Amino acid sequence: MKILVINAGSSSLKYQLIDMQTEKVVAKGGCERIGIPGSVLKAKGNGNEKTYEKDMPNHKVAIELVLHALKDEGIGVIKSMDEIGAVGHRIVASGEYFKKTTLVTPEVLKTLEEKTFELAPLHNPAAATGLRACMEVMPKTPMALVFDTSFHATMPEKAYLYGIAYEDYKEYGVRRYGAHGTSHKFVSAEAAKYLGKKPEQLKIVTCHLGNGSSISAVDGGKCVDTSMGFTPLAGVLMGTRSGDIDASAVEFLARKKGLNHSEAVIYLNKKCGVAGISGVSSDFRDLDEGAKNGNNRCALALDMFNYQTKKFVGAYAAAMGGLDCIVFTAGIGENSPNVREGVLEGLEFLGVKFDKNENAKRTDGIHEISTKDSKVKVLVIPTNEELVIARETAALL
Ligand code: AMP
Repeated sequence: MKILVINAGSSSLKYQLIDMQTEKVVAKGGCERIGIPGSVLKAKGNGNEKTYEKDMPNHKVAIELVLHALKDEGIGVIKSMDEIGAVGHRIVASGEYFKKTTLVTPEVLKTLEEKTFELAPLHNPAAATGLRACMEVMPKTPMALVFDTSFHATMPEKAYLYGIAYEDYKEYGVRRYGAHGTSHKFVSAEAAKYLGKKPEQLKIVTCHLGNGSSISAVDGGKCVDTSMGFTPLAGVLMGTRSGDIDASAVEFLARKKGLNHSEAVIYLNKKCGVAGISGVSSDFRDLDEGAKNGNNRCALALDMFNYQTKKFVGAYAAAMGGLDCIVFTAGIGENSPNVREGVLEGLEFLGVKFDKNENAKRTDGIHEISTKDSKVKVLVIPTNEELVIARETAALL
């Protein structure tokens, strides 16, 4: 069976078609500038690539073009739509309405649209638009919603509650939900497999460090805490997001800068993080380059990122009462030896020893960078969120 994985943004739509027998990607691509002049689909399949420069006024047209590309000459990998067993849709926020992967029914669609949009106003409406477009074009194909938040649904109350009035949590659902759950789930399971242990035997801290970053505590295969919060703004500072900040400082800043509530949140999401600290870039490659060339603010941004990430590792080791493994994943976690070194340095007291030469190497697949005698294993594991979405969707069927 083949599963189509869809990740729809407000003006973009990425897809992968995965053969579940081999778990290999047979076709992939992305539409950009949907609803904006100059829309384009870049598609790969059959070892070939094709670019479609076609007007895509909405997601429905984009989906139709993707389905056309899946059958098209040169890059086509299927003969008929019937070969697609189901579609898995990535959904960023579930609130408390969905705890696990869910098959789409009219009622599910209603809850998604009526209850969850305000939890992720940039992401969930776009995903729902992509979903509706798929349902129109493929009315007989089962659709599944796979949530970024599901893996974190196992957190205990003491970890997910904020110190606000309990009735307000109940009334408004304001609590920690976390994000990047599919990634944390994938890499923690891969780590257990690599170490030859059952997930139940391990206490793992997973560091998903990318443009958005989150750190999770995974005890016995279950998430028990995570750094992102009600939205993906919380935790460590990120590319352009502030990470954790005193709410009073937000009110103070908003007043000084003449921003209303929404503008203040946009400011914290778009103008802060390492980009705000460095004044140079949100991209860690640029920060590395800047720091190397003597830019102190680039060096400071990197220092802050490493320090904050390290604090979460230490806090989660304490929360779990031990630590067997640290995993680095995503754009920065997989590709930046400097960040990994900055995070790991000084954690010897927890039993972490890493090999600087091994850490500096670039490899494909899982890479162990801890020394042989390190009590805590340190692994670099390429994440694969699409595969998790495909697996969850297949399992649901
Ligand atoms: P992601 O959100 O997981 O796609 O990660 C994207 C981020 O990874 C980029 O914004 C960069 O900051 C970072 N990144 C990618 N490649 C490298 C690299 N070679 N060294 C440092 N950072 C990198």
